[in-house]
Amino acid sequence: MDNRGKMEEGRKVVYWPRDTVTSRLDLAELERPALESALAELGEERFRARQIFGWIYRRGVTELEAMTDLSRGLRTVLATRFTLTTPQVVTHERSSDGTQKLLLRLADGLEIESVFIPDTPAMTFCISTQAGCAMACAFCLTGKMGLVRNLTAGEIAGQVRVLADALSMRGTAFNIVLMGMGEPLHNYDETMKALRILTDEHGLALPPRRITLSTVGLLPGLERLAREPIMPNLAISLHAPSDLQRGQLVPLNRRYGIGDIIDVCKRFPVRARSRITFEYVLLAGVNDSIEDARALARLLAGVKSKVNLIPLNAAAGIPFDRPSDASIDRFAATLAERGVLVSVRKSRGRDIRAACGQLIVEGPRKSPAQQLAIAAFGRQP
Ligand code: SF4
Repeated sequence: MDNRGKMEEGRKVVYWPRDTVTSRLDLAELERPALESALAELGEERFRARQIFGWIYRRGVTELEAMTDLSRGLRTVLATRFTLTTPQVVTHERSSDGTQKLLLRLADGLEIESVFIPDTPAMTFCISTQAGCAMACAFCLTGKMGLVRNLTAGEIAGQVRVLADALSMRGTAFNIVLMGMGEPLHNYDETMKALRILTDEHGLALPPRRITLSTVGLLPGLERLAREPIMPNLAISLHAPSDLQRGQLVPLNRRYGIGDIIDVCKRFPVRARSRITFEYVLLAGVNDSIEDARALARLLAGVKSKVNLIPLNAAAGIPFDRPSDASIDRFAATLAERGVLVSVRKSRGRDIRAACGQLIVEGPRKSPAQQLAIAAFGRQP
């Protein structure tokens, strides 16, 4: 059964998701132009869409009834045609270092994680684009879950709405990194739609320079991203300087090799005064030698780049160790000596498993298979 809304705009047919139970359109899934079209069907003016967008994204309301500058009659009509889905906070954990992790439940019962990293001045929301991840990076607990499903644009942008409220940060400047669960370019269309929603001038109006998209290097997605009108900062999860090493850590490398990724990066339309970040998880005895650092510096010559070293957050189930502080310093110094801009990421939120590569929805009830069952049947089998 087709549960999508459909409208013809000139020769273009526009679809959007309907609430499968009530057949109402979900406001959380609509970009403003689509909302304008849907309201025009009801004979309403375009500015109503701007009002509704402002209520949802600027003021954080989650009920149509709360949109008090719409007449009561209009709110009643809208309630018969629209719904507004918002992820629900299941748990909210606070690390001793200020990092906060929220477990969020989506409308179909699936659970995902979003993280707040309070480093000043960059207050950052780390949000998920998929439940689980298909990329299976060897050092990542999320990868061990496999892909449960793609998140919708409304679920991706919804995490920002929820975090802004849960952390009392509505009206405060913050950054977003698409670095939670999932590979954003593996869910390309919904991720880009979420970015259009989040940057809409009548909504949160997030500047693209405050958004960073992190990818393991899905080349077709990278090529498409290079042509997008909304251009987030780009971070490439590299993790090794040679295809042989990287293929063992990032299985996707067997399909899209390092040379091709670097070629795309050299052509990528990087903003003035900006650089592509190359993330590099340091694993003791695997990719942390001086030779590796030298090879990395050679690889990045000619790329507008900076390197973010991430000493592994060791965890049960991850077959690698964190290098010693001395090895980390030596690796960073070798890069710096060769003119590479380098930083070492402080590990945040380890005590609540909110650190990089540690996002996983835990517990037997929430295994991927059972999550799928919950999604399909609304309960565990
Ligand atoms: S590191 Fe990122 S891309 Fe790799 S498995 Fe984990 S979530 Fe997926």
